[in-house]
Amino acid sequence: MKSRKTKPLPVGQFSTWLSRFRKALKNETGVNVKCGDCNACCRSSQFIHIKPEETGTIARIDNRLLFPAPGLPKGNMVLGYDKNGCCPMLREGQCSIYEDRPITCRNYDCRIFAAAGIDAGGKEKKLVDQQVRRWIFKYKDKLDRRQHSAVMAAAEFLKENTTIFPAGSVSGNPGQLAILAIKCYNVFLRPGLLRNNKETAQMIISAVKNFDKDLR
Ligand code: SF4
Ligand code: SF4
Repeated sequence: MKSRKTKPLPVGQFSTWLSRFRKALKNETGVNVKCGDCNACCRSSQFIHIKPEETGTIARIDNRLLFPAPGLPKGNMVLGYDKNGCCPMLREGQCSIYEDRPITCRNYDCRIFAAAGIDAGGKEKKLVDQQVRRWIFKYKDKLDRRQHSAVMAAAEFLKENTTIFPAGSVSGNPGQLAILAIKCYNVFLRPGLLRNNKETAQMIISAVKNFDKDLR
């Protein structure tokens, strides 16, 4: 019998998840992760960004736990983690400010790593990776499978070709990489049409620009 920690968790149809997550990136909806009793991402040495307008959240957190967010305008804060990698707001296994938790926490969806076929990070993220391996997507038809293959191919390309993109635009951060792959996956829907890495990189840059333009 599979242990509770390895038991598969159905996500549903890949294309449905993909479409919802892309809408969530555009702030048109939220993510809907069925976390159950998992709190892996609260125990994985994550810095949590909190925006200045999240006043309700900031009011709930001891200001000694908050630090100015590097490289962002004044008022943006970061909540760190303790020596065990746990968020200080995690008490007895649960978020003590759940109803006021940061937007970063509300929008976190570890299924992006299952979609992109990559790990969430190094050993600090091993609890998240355990959870990621449990997610199982369903495929209604060939397009569903092609979409998933395209997201994975995009992630692989970005990982292998970081240096051909403009400096700083593709980082080695797995979360950012998975999100970029989800934004530009359509470039990889017809892999037979791709010619060389430079052209593929240009197509990715255009696809991401196109996706992001609705955000402005
Ligand atoms: S790791 Fe995934 S399932 Fe677990 S709490 Fe975080 S988002 Fe939810
Ligand atoms: S604020 Fe709450 S949800 Fe966010 S990481 Fe901390 S314990 Fe988890």
